[in-house]
Amino acid sequence: MSHLDAERLALIALGEDADPDESAHLQECSLCATEFTELSRAVLVGRSTLTVGDLEAPPARVWERIAAEVGMAAASAPDVDTDSATIDVAPAADIVDGPAASDSDETPEPKRGTRRWTKVVFALAASVAAVLVVVGVTSILRPAPTELAAAALDAFPGHPGAAGTAVVVEDPDGERQITVELDADAAGTDAYREVWLITADASAIVSLGVLEGSEGTFAIPDDVDIDEYVLVDISEEPLDGDPTHSGDSIVRGELESV
Ligand SMILES: [Zn+2]
Repeated sequence: MSHLDAERLALIALGEDADPDESAHLQECSLCATEFTELSRAVLVGRSTLTVGDLEAPPARVWERIAAEVGMAAASAPDVDTDSATIDVAPAADIVDGPAASDSDETPEPKRGTRRWTKVVFALAASVAAVLVVVGVTSILRPAPTELAAAALDAFPGHPGAAGTAVVVEDPDGERQITVELDADAAGTDAYREVWLITADASAIVSLGVLEGSEGTFAIPDDVDIDEYVLVDISEEPLDGDPTHSGDSIVRGELESV
């Protein structure tokens, strides 16, 4: 038996009804079924990006390549608003259904237009899929953040039962971040939680920010040496306008290199 035409597969993936023979073939042929599944995914991805608003116009040579690949004259490129460098994108279904609905039993000329658009949509959907593959591979190859240090945070007497953790990581570009988790009763309505780094002898202290909820990630300023600022502290701060540490620590712990 012969396999389904690639263009028919694309049309069906875009939502056109398969005829009984095509349906039967898709049921029986794993090759075509696999290709159909992949096309459907690409179409889904393509459509899911249509709600983001204006898209940036690709360089003219990209359009020329697509046009060449699907056998379109370069003159039939869509109107590009060069001032704002954006293209108005219509949903894929409209592009395919619009012309098709109006010319189903008319002259062959617009029919070719439909087929062209179908190829363009197919090429665009395939491009989106290719970009996603590249992005996925890139994110796999990108080095993961390195864990530098971690701390177990223990409760102060005023907050029995509280506990927490802190983990310091360094991005490949050298940015350090600390993620803290706090397991404690909710803050009072007139108080908030603040995360601090403190030197071992408590001679210096730096605020990293307000902890909302039970977990937060904060950037560590470049000039803070975590070999000196080894204590991670989460405090309860009254809404009194005083930016200094209230003295009411909930949990605290010492960072240890990992
Ligand atoms: Zn087949």
